[in-house]
Amino acid sequence: MDLPVANPGPVRDEGQLLQCPYCDSEAMHKLAQFLLPGLAAVCVDGTTGDLFRSPSVVAVDLRQEMVDYITQRSETFIADTLIESEVEQNADNQMPDDPYEVISIFMDDFSRTKRNIIGHVSGWLLSDSREDKIDDFVQEMDMTRFWPLERREGIAEVLLKNVDCEQNCEKRLLRRDMDRHCVTVCPMRPMKCPFGCDSSFPEHNLEEHCSESLQQHLLKVLQVIHKKGFTADQLNDRALELEKSEDRGKLAKARDARSLTNIVK
Ligand SMILES: [Zn+2]
Ligand SMILES: [Zn+2]
Ligand SMILES: [Zn+2]
Repeated sequence: MDLPVANPGPVRDEGQLLQCPYCDSEAMHKLAQFLLPGLAAVCVDGTTGDLFRSPSVVAVDLRQEMVDYITQRSETFIADTLIESEVEQNADNQMPDDPYEVISIFMDDFSRTKRNIIGHVSGWLLSDSREDKIDDFVQEMDMTRFWPLERREGIAEVLLKNVDCEQNCEKRLLRRDMDRHCVTVCPMRPMKCPFGCDSSFPEHNLEEHCSESLQQHLLKVLQVIHKKGFTADQLNDRALELEKSEDRGKLAKARDARSLTNIVK
């Protein structure tokens, strides 16, 4: 057994990842599980019939190569699928929607490039002894913690959350989470002013808007409170007066007309 335990595999790039309660982690765990037999298959196929190299000798290099390969494929995936769907309309050639399946395809492509001559013989690929060798090697890697699950999960997360938010909020997410993210939790989702002035802005600018437009918002609320008996000038003066009062901070914290009205009254 010559797997170097001291090197538990590539670390994910932490910077890009932010937790999103709406994202589905099932695909991530499924993929993390799958990375180990995937690597085992690549190592076994690449060394079959080789008297000088065993799967464990090539595992370190192939793990790095495999992670680099599928990471790179997943990064250009959107560009690739756009081009493909423009060029050919054939539905059979479309990539699956399930990101896990997409990554499986990348891993298959990678393992194909790593097969040696015996690995290319079709009988070998379907043989029981191949399956046994792969199983044995998975167990070996498992026991030596050659590639611990938490490391694989980190890789899987990067692979799956490979799309930048369409509204540029700095989050990276699964493609299929994009729509939901953009209308539910994305801080860049557009919203209209809750006080009914004409502006719309990204949700995370609400606080700023409420502070900047306090006078306008006060005026709208005052017009409702004092339906009659006040001239426009008087309402303006009252709004100005309130804005300059010591309650300004409290007033600016109101996020809708009703709570602002309550404070004014
Ligand atoms: Zn999300
Ligand atoms: Zn976003
Ligand atoms: Zn407003």
